[in-house]
Amino acid sequence: MVMRTEVAIVGAGPAGLLLAHLLDRAGIESVVVETRSQEYVASRIRAGILEQSSVDVLTAAGLGDRLRAEGHEHRGVYLQWPGGRHHLDFVDLTGRSVWVYGQTEVQKDLVRAHGGPVVYEVTDTALHDLTTDHPYVTYTDRDGVGRRLDAAVIAGCDGSFGPSRAAVPQSARQVYERTYPYSWLGVLADVAPSTDELIYAWHPDGFALHSMRSPTVSRLYLQVPNGTDPQTWPDERVWSELAKRLGHGQDGWTLTPGPITEKSVLPMRSLVQTPMRHGRLFLAGDAAHIVPPTGAKGLNLAIADVARLAPALTALLRGNGSARAERYSDDALARVWRCTHFSWWMTTMLHATSDPFDAQLQLSQLRWVTSSRAGATGLAENYAGLPL
Ligand SMILES: Cc1cc2nc3c(=O)[nH]c(=O)nc-3n(C[C@H](O)[C@H](O)[C@H](O)COP(=O)(O)OP(=O)(O)OC[C@H]3O[C@@H](n4cnc5c(N)ncnc54)[C@H](O)[C@@H]3O)c2cc1C
Repeated sequence: MVMRTEVAIVGAGPAGLLLAHLLDRAGIESVVVETRSQEYVASRIRAGILEQSSVDVLTAAGLGDRLRAEGHEHRGVYLQWPGGRHHLDFVDLTGRSVWVYGQTEVQKDLVRAHGGPVVYEVTDTALHDLTTDHPYVTYTDRDGVGRRLDAAVIAGCDGSFGPSRAAVPQSARQVYERTYPYSWLGVLADVAPSTDELIYAWHPDGFALHSMRSPTVSRLYLQVPNGTDPQTWPDERVWSELAKRLGHGQDGWTLTPGPITEKSVLPMRSLVQTPMRHGRLFLAGDAAHIVPPTGAKGLNLAIADVARLAPALTALLRGNGSARAERYSDDALARVWRCTHFSWWMTTMLHATSDPFDAQLQLSQLRWVTSSRAGATGLAENYAGLPL
């Protein structure tokens, strides 16, 4: 049961499917293998903010029509703490904007656009012979049949829990990691957002974020201790805590509650594994790095990696030189570390700790980024995303 392709892609999340689509447009064959079903992958509630360069990449790949019709362009975000809310206008500060468009929608667009083979519901995925010129992937298909996929190159796009990252021998990889002492309780609610743009709120009882997915669906988050069971947060408790932290009643602003349709707890972690290439294996997206969601960078970094990887593999496999493939890891890591720092910075500026010294530093930082054009521009440039 052996198949052959040019690029074997492990994982059909945004990184894997976008890579398959870009390779297909360049005339390179690929096969994607994925543990979950197509429906499960398309309905996972995750990221929702696209930076300008992600919108540009998706548009250039022919995936921009629904994004522009149904997504919402935002000029910036609000930063607040008790007593004050301040708007940062990214367009005014940097000439760049962000778009609200859910990862679920990006995934649906990718599934519709990509006509190549994607094998869903596989198990036992394993990567082999990565430092030879005939690497391969083995897996068991949904009928229980063992399969082997031979390729010129393997792309590890299998997220934070897939086998690709660990397929690099310990002696050849370095892992940098930070675990944060808090998590996010995220809810999706069938109610119109109470704000036109995202509100990032510092509060002594914990961070809160008011985001949105559409004009009728709100996405809201609360800082909670690690290990929190979502069952201990009935809907009324969620809404009353959000109202307090987001400043319901402050300067006439009100938070409108509504039916909660999804509730989950998301631990916060930073991780970077270097290098992002080992022999014929190239890592992209969460398979190589994880950021806490505060800076809205996870999905955007996955798209940025793939935007570099697709032309590098095309040149390599079409005999147009290996220079881009050689540089892939270093080039990608420069952006990864910038976003890792920004995500850490936003996280540590906005999340309450039990230390009153931390609180004063955080408030000082917030006053600075909202009152100094230089401070505001630094945040805006990173949030809206540096050009690729
Ligand atoms: C619960 C959650 C909430 C998030 N919320 C936000 C947010 O609010 N904002 C933000 O910016 N980012 C958020 N992120 C991060 C963002 O969703 C990711 O950065 C993004 O999905 C990365 O895309 P990816 O394709 O690299 O990885 P993934 O989307 O994780 O895709 C990897 C794919 O590989 C598949 N896979 C795993 N193991 C195997 C295997 N053995 N064989 C084959 N396939 C396999 C997985 O099923 C998955 O489909 C969130 C992540 C999670 C987990």
